[in-house]
Amino acid sequence: PTGEPAGNLWRADEHDYSPNSEQSARTNAALITLVRNEELDQLLSTMSDLERTWNNKFNYPYIFFNDVPFTEEFKQKTQAMTKAKCQYELVPKEHWEVPSWINMDLFLESAKMLEEQDIQYSSKVSYHQMCRWNSGLFYKHPALAGYRYYWRIEPNVKFFCDVDYDVFRYMEDGNKTYGFTINLYDAPQSIPSLWPETQRFLAANPSYLSDNNMWEWITDDVARPEHTKGANGYSTCHFWSNFEIGDLDFFRGEKYEAYFQHLDRAGGFFYERWGDAPVHSLGIGLFADAANVHWFRDIGYNHIPYLNCPNSPKCSGCKAGQFYQGADFLSKEDCRPTYFKYVGTH
Ligand code: GDP
Ligand code: MN
Repeated sequence: PTGEPAGNLWRADEHDYSPNSEQSARTNAALITLVRNEELDQLLSTMSDLERTWNNKFNYPYIFFNDVPFTEEFKQKTQAMTKAKCQYELVPKEHWEVPSWINMDLFLESAKMLEEQDIQYSSKVSYHQMCRWNSGLFYKHPALAGYRYYWRIEPNVKFFCDVDYDVFRYMEDGNKTYGFTINLYDAPQSIPSLWPETQRFLAANPSYLSDNNMWEWITDDVARPEHTKGANGYSTCHFWSNFEIGDLDFFRGEKYEAYFQHLDRAGGFFYERWGDAPVHSLGIGLFADAANVHWFRDIGYNHIPYLNCPNSPKCSGCKAGQFYQGADFLSKEDCRPTYFKYVGTH
């Protein structure tokens, strides 16, 4: 078994995916990453894996985002990794700056408290800015205006398996909203008021809740493994967003955008350390149709310290079934068992 989805998949050898073809079989999609110049080597490693396992067959364009201009070296070396088109974009100031309603004294005070609770990066303003941008601003960048689907990548991640079909076409043909590889528990101290704020938003917008939502995966209403401590009613289960394949129309849509605006005003991107992963996950889990969310079991993936490693002859470089890079192979942080139990695979 290769774990790849069934059906009539678009395959590179059956269609024209040549890099510069105006008539190629590619759909409206791009590989995107927010990245720093200093992470060039790590990003080249990611690109090398993704090109080898997938994109050399499909030549989807890359769009690189940065809050400061990319260096010439960055542009040359990334373009040299691929036949596909590369585009280099600056994040608009108004999308990156700390919003006017955030009190920086209060930020510093909260950051100190979070540091004491061992919340990584809590004093680093740029980390909060990055999480906020990935939560609610990336899809507003003008460079993505003409695009429907994106695949987010990060520096220093690994791809282990040959994938021979066009995953963007798979998203489109199956009307998929979101695709993930890994989902896991989060540190509750980083998001104490995220669920209370979300409940406030839901109470004001009850019609936004999808009929086929992921309530049991999201909330603490069902029995949880002993060691997991939720965050005021939120299970903390989230799709790990350093990998995600998504439909930009969902994020640009009325529901998710209103949800982001509500969260942004509430201040938790700075006074707490809300990550884009739990924010995307709550948005998807509450407002999307669960049947349109897909686990890419066939995409072998690693971002330290977790993995998605299929048992398939198409994979090499990881141990089938391994979830955690530490001593205990599986780790208790995996949220997928609850996901499979209550949401299922689609
Ligand atoms: P972690 O995975 O939570 O440890 O966070 P990372 O350091 O990997 O950051 C997530 C993504 O955002 C990565 O692709 C980083 O390259 C990128 N990133 C984080 N902070 C900044 C920043 O200040 N500027 C830019 N341009 N990219 C950033
Ligand atoms: Mn990372």
